[in-house]
Amino acid sequence: MELKTVCKLDQCTGCMACIDICPKDAVRIKDSLISYNAIIDEKNVSTVMHVI
Ligand code: SF4
Repeated sequence: MELKTVCKLDQCTGCMACIDICPKDAVRIKDSLISYNAIIDEKNVSTVMHVI
């Protein structure tokens, strides 16, 4: 399954801006040893919008 990320894949700095402004609480940070990624949970949104 393709991950829907807010910023480009593996370019997230973890600033949390997208999490703070999402009214559907549909963004979460998925971290790994090499990078953060802010992932959009499409079950929580009817329309995926660019927030940045
Ligand atoms: S994806 Fe979200 S948390 Fe990561 S840099 Fe972009 S705005 Fe910040």
